[in-house]
Amino acid sequence: MEYFSKDISRLVAEFSRLPGVGQKSAQRLAFHIINAPKEQAESLAEAITNARSNVHYCKICCTLTDQDICPICSSEERNHRQIMVVENTRDMSAYERIGKYNGVYHVLHGAISPMLGIGPDDIRLKELMARLQNDVDEVIIATNSSLEGETTATYITKLVKPLGIKVTRIASGVPVGGDIENIDEVTLLRALDGRITL
Ligand code: ZN
Repeated sequence: MEYFSKDISRLVAEFSRLPGVGQKSAQRLAFHIINAPKEQAESLAEAITNARSNVHYCKICCTLTDQDICPICSSEERNHRQIMVVENTRDMSAYERIGKYNGVYHVLHGAISPMLGIGPDDIRLKELMARLQNDVDEVIIATNSSLEGETTATYITKLVKPLGIKVTRIASGVPVGGDIENIDEVTLLRALDGRITL
């Protein structure tokens, strides 16, 4: 039986499609919005619309940005000859939070997974290879230590090493199957500092 009005039900349904939001949380969020000042609800709606329509991939590193080239790629303070390869923008943010890495990034937007039918062409690998035509000293592979992350690391190593570019892999300390975004900063820094040459 529909005991909510159509508009409330729709809002609950939209919230419950978000990752990690169950039916109960969706209802709580919906009622929070409905009871909030009108301007707050409008501001949220506008933020969602703007972010969705203005945010796209950086032309160089493929991270999400609202500019053509993201702030890290356009920074002259960063070492553009050192590229850290991560699976997604959240992992990149995790490394940025430590504030100790001065190179640039490449965001793959996924990892190779034969089981899920995700191949090398489904992630932003071609874009990485194109970047390696420029002067690059080191490619740091910082994919997750999951099966997919390791498969991706091996694949990238095979492509990059023949180019004569140094390839390193972030060290252990990042737990097997652990998502980089959930790891504390000390462990993350240790993993970066202790990276091994492949
Ligand atoms: Zn960029």
